[in-house]
Amino acid sequence: MKIAILGAGAMGSLFGGLLAESGQDVTLLDINDAHLQAIRATGLRLETDSGNRLVSGLSACRPEQASIQPDLLLVFTKSLSTAAALAGTAGLIGPRTLLLTLQNGLGNVEAVSRFVAREQVLIGMTTWPADLVGPGHVHSHGLGVIRIMAADQREREDVKQVAAILSAAGLCCTADQAVWKAIWEKVAFNAALNTLCAVTGCTVDQLGAAPEGMALASAIIGEVVAVAQAEGIDADAAHCRETVAHAIAHHVGHEPSMLQDVLAGRATEVGAINGAVVEKGRHHRVATPHTQTLLMLVRLMEAKAQAT
Ligand code: NAD
Repeated sequence: MKIAILGAGAMGSLFGGLLAESGQDVTLLDINDAHLQAIRATGLRLETDSGNRLVSGLSACRPEQASIQPDLLLVFTKSLSTAAALAGTAGLIGPRTLLLTLQNGLGNVEAVSRFVAREQVLIGMTTWPADLVGPGHVHSHGLGVIRIMAADQREREDVKQVAAILSAAGLCCTADQAVWKAIWEKVAFNAALNTLCAVTGCTVDQLGAAPEGMALASAIIGEVVAVAQAEGIDADAAHCRETVAHAIAHHVGHEPSMLQDVLAGRATEVGAINGAVVEKGRHHRVATPHTQTLLMLVRLMEAKAQAT
């Protein structure tokens, strides 16, 4: 299968590297020239639990330099960049190209559906982690899963084929009609843990050092799950709290991406996470005071970084 990865940062490079290793024809599309150059020069350095190796045979270029028509385009930019990135791929997407978004947050289906017909859009959630160590070098520790479905919610053979290709690359993917529940539960996790770490500067384990950390996380999870339930999604607050407690206990020293973005003075995905929850809560008249306070604090930090 011809696969293009739009946004070949930490996750895009991990997925692209594993798919290329499994024999797929992969093109990485990004605007980070140093990263693209390093991959073209020496290959992609992939550090995973399976070992530290160089993956060759990947194409890597800017979207406007590509002349492929992929069967599958995996969207892996941060949610803030989706529209600009897809606008740059206009000539690459054909009427049969499937677009899969595994980005965190809400609003990704809507963002992608502005560029192609809804039948071409696949949506999913992944628990795989990845970090970009430097140009051409990605690291991922531990195991993850992927769950995908068609945005039009029909059970389809092409979705099963995409899941099989991702699984053959070792990415453990299932076609699953309960993806929205998984997406909302990950939104609850991120709305709690990412924003609290971003605002306090705590690593994930430091957040658990005082009972206030888990109490705040628990309050945010309760709000996000109440909004999810108002949307008709059967999200499970107890499961989200267990996932947060597990991260606090096991991810010692981990800085969530929102903390990394704040420290680097970059814009964050808080709008697609807490922002989207607050907006939907307002629509359903579900109160989200903790989620909204954290949203505003992260926004304040973004504004301060922009002004300096
Ligand atoms: P990242 O910042 O490492 O990668 C994003 C890439 O998009 C960058 O390389 C950037 O140069 C590129 N990009 C930006 N604008 C572009 C444009 N116009 N055209 C082409 N490329 C462009 O981010 P990431 O950590 O890989 O996360 C990607 C998505 O996956 C996010 O939504 C994130 O929340 C989600 N996610 C991340 C993890 C993780 O562990 N990193 C886990 C699960 C989900």
